[in-house]
Amino acid sequence: MQITVVVATGGTIAGSAARADDAVGYTAGVLDAGALLAAVPPLAGLPIEAETLARLDSRDMDHATWAALARRLRALQARPEVGAVVVTHGTDTLEETAYFLHRTLRADKPVVLTAAMRPATALSPDGPRNLFDAVTLARTPGVRGVVAVLGGQVLAGAELRKLHGWRVDAFSAGDAGPLAWVEDGGVRVLRDWPRGEALREDLPDLDPAHWPVVDLVTSHAGARGAVIDALVAAGAQGIVIAGTGNGSVHRQLREAAARAEAHGVRVWRASRCLAGGVVGAPAGELPSAGSLTPAQARVALMLELVPPGRAGSAGLV
Ligand code: ASP
Repeated sequence: MQITVVVATGGTIAGSAARADDAVGYTAGVLDAGALLAAVPPLAGLPIEAETLARLDSRDMDHATWAALARRLRALQARPEVGAVVVTHGTDTLEETAYFLHRTLRADKPVVLTAAMRPATALSPDGPRNLFDAVTLARTPGVRGVVAVLGGQVLAGAELRKLHGWRVDAFSAGDAGPLAWVEDGGVRVLRDWPRGEALREDLPDLDPAHWPVVDLVTSHAGARGAVIDALVAAGAQGIVIAGTGNGSVHRQLREAAARAEAHGVRVWRASRCLAGGVVGAPAGELPSAGSLTPAQARVALMLELVPPGRAGSAGLV
């Protein structure tokens, strides 16, 4: 019988508030993995291991935790008796962690992320149901890749994004749509499971202090090129500009980006719109991040700037 391992990293799903009617004033990451599972009675008796890797409010997610998480998940995936891993996480940086894991883990055993918008102490918490759905999905034959499940909606790790600040129905995969739905203990599959892409299994082994420095800048009315100049002076090796519309960038930032590129800094443009990404690559424009959100594009550029790793570590799985 295959084991599912639940790895807790913190977030609102593990959050605690002083009052049950308080869904926004709470402390994230209070509960450990065992306590999260104890709140889901239907999971009792299933072959599930629980461990707590971190108790972070995911707004404070950092590269050291990402490295530790990817290495731990890789070790769990390597255990033959482990069928899948579920990761509980905060919603704020879920899209970044999901994309990071999508690019650094093999896809043959699923990693199912889940989270919650209301703390565990809320009158009507969404975490227990989401954890139940995540374990249900993890135990479903044929699932692969890094995926997330929230509100029954199964989204690809490379596609999900947080669209709303506090409502329970806060996530979407933009134009790509969901991969599947978890419905009352069953899974309705709509699209193929992720196959993994351009793996950089070597990044988690690199000391996070040596990960490429990539920063994010937003284009807006009145934008100042001095922001990009300051980042270059502070050691940025890459910069992603969250552009307006279809990745358009303010003239001041375009001029500063040209100065940055002349210093060897890679500059990409993404879109600050909530869906659609950037299409087209007109001559003379900065390279586009395609369908990635600006925060995911930051991870992608960081991965691209890592020097070539161990032989055979990059490729499609
Ligand atoms: N700040 C919280 C976190 O990301 C929000 C949440 O989990 O919903 O950890």
